[in-house]
Amino acid sequence: MTIDDSILLATTSWGHPVETTDEGGTYMKAIAVIPGRPNSVHLASLAKPSVAEIPGGRGVLVKVLRVGVDGTDKEINAAEYGAAPPGFEFLVIGHESFGRVEAVGPNVSELAPGDYVVATVRRPGTSIYDKIGTYDMTTDDTYFERGINLRHGFLTEYYVDDPEYIVKVPEGLRDVGVLLEPLTVVEKGITQAFEIQRRLRVWRPRRAAVMGAGTIGLLAALVLRLRGLDVTVFGRTRKPYLNSNLIEGLGARYLTTTDVPIADGAAKHGPFDLIFEATGASPVVFESMRALGKNGVLVLSSVTGGDRMIEIPADRINLEFVLGNKVMVGTVNANREYFELGVRDMAQAQAEYAGWLEQLLTHPVSRLENYAQLFETLSTAKGAIKVYCRVAEG
Ligand code: BGC
Ligand code: ZN
Repeated sequence: MTIDDSILLATTSWGHPVETTDEGGTYMKAIAVIPGRPNSVHLASLAKPSVAEIPGGRGVLVKVLRVGVDGTDKEINAAEYGAAPPGFEFLVIGHESFGRVEAVGPNVSELAPGDYVVATVRRPGTSIYDKIGTYDMTTDDTYFERGINLRHGFLTEYYVDDPEYIVKVPEGLRDVGVLLEPLTVVEKGITQAFEIQRRLRVWRPRRAAVMGAGTIGLLAALVLRLRGLDVTVFGRTRKPYLNSNLIEGLGARYLTTTDVPIADGAAKHGPFDLIFEATGASPVVFESMRALGKNGVLVLSSVTGGDRMIEIPADRINLEFVLGNKVMVGTVNANREYFELGVRDMAQAQAEYAGWLEQLLTHPVSRLENYAQLFETLSTAKGAIKVYCRVAEG
């Protein structure tokens, strides 16, 4: 037995510590990194999971079909983010999953073999929010996220989990199901904005802005259009390019910030009742604060790992926020509720903007063995919207 094998026996295949494990299992491939070591992405092998790993007969074994990658994966491979599960040197990455149920434990009635599914990312900690299923709102310092922090992810052949964390995707959405996880980040942010605005007794948002035309920005534009808002998306690249065409295909407008500064765009197409910030660039947050209309809500979703310093007109921004009763809210991750909402919005999107979601799936890379190409595509491909691994057909 190698050292790695003995480590595997002390934990489940997804990195959750257990007292006992099933020994006789076979191994499977996975794409992993060594957290803390830059560019360490490699092919690892780990025990194939079994439904018995989940207590109470509640295991769901899922065969992974497709997994999307994003900026978080890039940061993890750059050793700027992420941690391995206890007892492991490596972290299996991949948090945007799509798969098919292969087997279920005796006490699982919500899912059956053959169902298409997507798993949520975060797993509960100990705060009150974790205990009521809203682990995306945890107040714990340590959070557990599959494929990101302290738990193995989905860029592998199989995973097992409790049905609480697995959401069924109707067969009619199977071609776009891999987009569900990024969509849930948007669903949470927009739902939270609407919840917050209940403070106004009457809130009829009419105009929205989205900062950033990447995958999250595009999906935010989609959801805001599905809610009936007039949507302006601000991006850096001059149109026409695929993303600007897609935005216009939703009946939204695209503005290039090099030609139309945010303030000018807001003067012409605002005041914005809701702004969704998804550029990944923190200075845009402060410009967005200024572009927000009275009583408006600004949703921040960019995970900015750096330590950039900038100068801002602090008095003005503060004054406008105070005199305008404005709100700014941060949002991260998503719980089951937002995955279910995401499924419904995907179905509505397919009805209203047929074929639109498919166009986001620009860069498939087949098979786990091609992990180098997957990362190469993620960091260099021109015009990429969603880069994803086709782990298996099905
Ligand atoms: C993931 C979220 C996660 C966040 C922070 C994002 O890329 O999509 O699920 O909470 O990173 O780790
Ligand atoms: Zn992500």
